[in-house]
Amino acid sequence: MSKSKGNGIDPVDIIEQYGTDAMRYVLCDMQTGSQDIRLPVTAVCPSCDHHNDLSEAKTGKSVFIRICGKCKAEFDILGTIPDLPRGRLISERFDTGRAFCTKLWNSVRFALMNLDVPEPVAAKPVVREALALEDRWILDGLNETVKAVHAGLADYNRARPWARRATSSGARSATGTWSW
Ligand SMILES: [Zn+2]
Repeated sequence: MSKSKGNGIDPVDIIEQYGTDAMRYVLCDMQTGSQDIRLPVTAVCPSCDHHNDLSEAKTGKSVFIRICGKCKAEFDILGTIPDLPRGRLISERFDTGRAFCTKLWNSVRFALMNLDVPEPVAAKPVVREALALEDRWILDGLNETVKAVHAGLADYNRARPWARRATSSGARSATGTWSW
């Protein structure tokens, strides 16, 4: 992405399109350390909401003016040209983050709707042997997630998306969902 080339993505546009958690998740997922990441950019037409591939969209009088492939309307991808509507720049790479967060949200909501959740009480020590098998399984998943996150933080390892893997694995354990 480059601001001077007009293909930089505003995080606020990503948040509006996909949500804050989806953006956080994908940014963690894309961590490679020192390698560049390919991020296809899409320009959303403000007139018809059509998603135009930025690398293929025709330009107008300047490189910052694009012509919608569907309705042929002109729009400004920087938002600095008077009398032209601004087209948001997004990347469909963030779809995976939205899908993950939606599944997590739905799984937790389903569990809360179907569980008899007691009123909160003061925390007391948990006796592992007294827990049901499924509760021990969930607790083991949580403990593995905590260990993985602590090990990754201790190594200051940005080269692997360990945090994302650990947290998504923990979320699967906690919700009993293995299909995502
Ligand atoms: Zn259009």
